[in-house]
Amino acid sequence: MSKKQTMREHMTGRLGESSSFSLNPPLPECLNIEVNNTCNQKCVFCPYHGLYAPKTIHPAILSVDFVKELMCQAYELGIGRKEIGFYLAGEAFLYKGLAELIAFAKELGFKYTFLTTNGALATPERMREVLDAGLDSIRFSVNAPQRELYRELHGKDDYDIVIRNIKEMHQYITKNHIKVATSLSCVITKKTIGIEKQMREIFEPYFEDIMFIPVMLSRLTNIAEVKEKYEVIDDSDVMFNPDFICPLLFNTMYINAFGKVVPCCNSYDEEVYFADLKVNPSLKDAWESDGYNKYRKIFLKGDSDKGTICETCLMRKKTVKRFIYDD
Ligand code: SF4
Repeated sequence: MSKKQTMREHMTGRLGESSSFSLNPPLPECLNIEVNNTCNQKCVFCPYHGLYAPKTIHPAILSVDFVKELMCQAYELGIGRKEIGFYLAGEAFLYKGLAELIAFAKELGFKYTFLTTNGALATPERMREVLDAGLDSIRFSVNAPQRELYRELHGKDDYDIVIRNIKEMHQYITKNHIKVATSLSCVITKKTIGIEKQMREIFEPYFEDIMFIPVMLSRLTNIAEVKEKYEVIDDSDVMFNPDFICPLLFNTMYINAFGKVVPCCNSYDEEVYFADLKVNPSLKDAWESDGYNKYRKIFLKGDSDKGTICETCLMRKKTVKRFIYDD
């Protein structure tokens, strides 16, 4: 099986299936730990750090020791047996202990470790550290094929440095025969419609997989202005799918940089969480908590979603498959 297939399988598995849609699902096979929630860029469409983000995120970071304790517990319970990632809203390379955590995860026996990065801080030295630590998969987020446009969309003039980091990474991987799956994702906005060919020409030599994702704007403020500037798909008339059951509530545990268990990466509101692991570190208790139960009941029992973050989630729209496309 090619690495491209493996990487896509992990992604579609997380978003598309669950071993058990029940009120008491088995402990989750996917685990995401947000080691820090800060970022070095300000992408225009980012609901956490961008110009139109609905809230200011309070900076938070987890200590290396705390994450190691969580990983030991998770591994013993079988949580994350399929995959473990180290990001949510933040840029992982801002976290100094990143390589140490990846090495620790691999020593424990976690099968598949992965990261997403904007790449600006993935310097050759930092990249070597995480690759040597045994990282299994890395995805770069690059949303423009040239400097000016990149600066506008990412909010930082980092295009040249990202290109350098990508080339250096590729060289190191090739030279040392490192087994890591590499991919690039590009969010398509009104400013970048039709750039797929150009992106492929520039980036295909360095990545096994390239994906294009139409921008999602519904979580941002000043929505009329944002849509006018960046929208590519009008999602306002996309139909709600009453049969959709969100797999993330059944197959993945998300832990944010405050040490709280949250429903998914849409949980940028600090008030929405299921358990505080700094108060009770039990991952099993968190998975079986009333909060999870309440959210699972929305999908399994048809309970009201009013006031929950699922109420307006795009995942529940009928054409969600259209939101990720490539060749
Ligand atoms: S907001 Fe709800 S439906 Fe959407 S991804 Fe999160 S848990 Fe799933």
